[in-house]
Amino acid sequence: MKESRGLLDSLVAEKISRIGQFSRIGQLEIVSSEEGFVLCHRDDVGRTDLINYEIDEALEVAKFDDTGRYRPLKTAPNLRHGWKIFARDLLQVEKVIDAIYPGRIAVLRAFTSGRLTTTSLRETLNRQSGMYRVAAKISDEQIDGLVGNFCRSDGGCLRTILWKRDASGKTASSKLPPEKFDPAVDQYFREEEPRSATAATESLPLLCQEACNLLVAACRDAVKGESAAPLAP
Ligand code: SF4
Repeated sequence: MKESRGLLDSLVAEKISRIGQFSRIGQLEIVSSEEGFVLCHRDDVGRTDLINYEIDEALEVAKFDDTGRYRPLKTAPNLRHGWKIFARDLLQVEKVIDAIYPGRIAVLRAFTSGRLTTTSLRETLNRQSGMYRVAAKISDEQIDGLVGNFCRSDGGCLRTILWKRDASGKTASSKLPPEKFDPAVDQYFREEEPRSATAATESLPLLCQEACNLLVAACRDAVKGESAAPLAP
């Protein structure tokens, strides 16, 4: 990885490079110190019993949830607890983020520089082939309900949706709140930690520029009358 590309861009670096400062992305907390950075689950900040993992073990950390179940969707709000990873510099911070949330830093970088393109759900569905071709037959009403449930931040997925439903620019689902489409809003929230006015400045968004394979598969299932499996507990 070239240093110029490996470093988080200035926007990201500015948020987490001040000593004692913290930043968040998804369910990750990044705390800076004299020695470097510590990354852990946001819920685990302050715990003294966290187990140390190496940078190269971040992929393993992201693989299974607290109950040992495989996580097919890495941006589902079910990142496991109980671990921490020390990163010496921003290059290593990016490596950990990229293992836990694959591709999201690159997408964020493209977004902040105005180079990110998005693909509507209809376009994504229309280009499917084979067993997924039938997914394009999903009705608008089905999309509304399916996306509203499948992509919701509380139990579905923590990404901020940037794609539209179709070429007319219709919103992805009327069942989702406006915040789901706002990169300035922190998508991870818990009853004990309601959204605050400072959330946007402390958090980096996980962006969704086009429907993922899991949503495409769920659209196919909806057309065929099969129900989609829940992604997160
Ligand atoms: S389509 Fe995007 S927001 Fe919806 S579940 Fe997939 S990755 Fe998450």
